[in-house]
Amino acid sequence: MTEKKVPFSIQDIENITAEHPTPFHIYDEEGIIQNADYFLKAFRWVPGGFKNYFAVKALPNPYIIKLLKNLGMGADCSSLPELILAEKVGLRGEDIMFTSNDTPAEEFIKAIELGAVINLDDISHIPFLEKHAGIPELICFRYNPGRLKSGNVFIGNPEDAKYGFTREQVLEGYGIMKKKGVKRFALHTMVASNELNPEYFVDTARILFDLAIEVYKTHGIKIEFINLGGGVGIPYHPNQKAVDLELVSRGIKEAYENMIAGEGLHPLKIVMECGRMVTGPFGYLVSRVRHIKNTYKTFVGLDACMANLMRPAMYGAYHHITVLGKENEPVEYTYDITGSLCENNDKFAINRKLPKIEVGDILVIHDTGAHGHAMGFNYNGKLRSAELLLKENKSVQLIRRAETVDDYFATLNFPGL
Ligand SMILES: *Cc1c(COP(=O)(O)O)cnc(C)c1O
Repeated sequence: MTEKKVPFSIQDIENITAEHPTPFHIYDEEGIIQNADYFLKAFRWVPGGFKNYFAVKALPNPYIIKLLKNLGMGADCSSLPELILAEKVGLRGEDIMFTSNDTPAEEFIKAIELGAVINLDDISHIPFLEKHAGIPELICFRYNPGRLKSGNVFIGNPEDAKYGFTREQVLEGYGIMKKKGVKRFALHTMVASNELNPEYFVDTARILFDLAIEVYKTHGIKIEFINLGGGVGIPYHPNQKAVDLELVSRGIKEAYENMIAGEGLHPLKIVMECGRMVTGPFGYLVSRVRHIKNTYKTFVGLDACMANLMRPAMYGAYHHITVLGKENEPVEYTYDITGSLCENNDKFAINRKLPKIEVGDILVIHDTGAHGHAMGFNYNGKLRSAELLLKENKSVQLIRRAETVDDYFATLNFPGL
């Protein structure tokens, strides 16, 4: 069970909306800081050091990336704008992981220019990288374990996944890179998304340790770090439980002691690319009730829509909803909570039991701090909302303004006008 609380009162939100109208996402800085501390402490034992590269796509806002940088995290980027965002907050060199796929030449060029860790997705990218950007001193390969590991519902069966090298290709690839003069090597995999089973990540570590040992035996190459990817889930539903990171860490430590310690690969560094788990639970989409409609069901229409948060419409994902100020009222009504987009899947919740809702009420949609605002879009002329940061001292900072109609038209010319 996970208790679903909000870090603000209805008075706080009414004060904020006087200056920043709904809808908006608001991120809880204190929550992010405490969670990062817990996460990084859990892995302090790693002999070669531990680092998390925050997956920029989860929450691509410079204030957040900078906050995480100050907490010791790097950035995991997979596009040119993400690389530039990392650069703009002062990240450089090996504080940037470039984990891309189907990569354009200009992105390799930028990543090499920044000195980022290049995490290659395919063996055919070796000559492509060499031709366009040159071969760096350090190279990482993304491994796809195929049948060795079952994926989860979000990423699917690894054999069907477009990502990564096969085992044979990993072994061949390191041989090629060694001949090309690469001096430092790393190994990555990521086969799950939003996974809540702690064993999953221990398994992944074992698979990478095993392959790192095989690479060492085959080529005499000492893998410098393994990258376990992201994919640590969060308890969107109150019935779910957060991943116990200390348990994951203990499992990985045991595997390390059995497989790596005392061998040639020790001390090995371990890194991750978690996004969702780092910021997800600390974001809230705050929206006001615009209309209540009674037909065959009761529909509560918000001023937010799936352009602000598409996970429920896209994956049927559960997001908890709090009717602000009515936390202690009986949950006696059943509603569909909708937005204004002309798609019937534009619903944040279907048949959700909630307290009695009135027009003007504030609804808070939980766990929007990762893959929330970031997945927004403009279909149907819907504009993306502002993002606010609720600072540790309880002040509020606008960290992205809301889009305007001019933003929507910015890429257009009007013929004959
Ligand atoms: C999306 C992604 C991540 C982050 O995933 P989370 O579920 O947010 O932890 C990390 N690495 C890669 C390569 C990704 O594509």
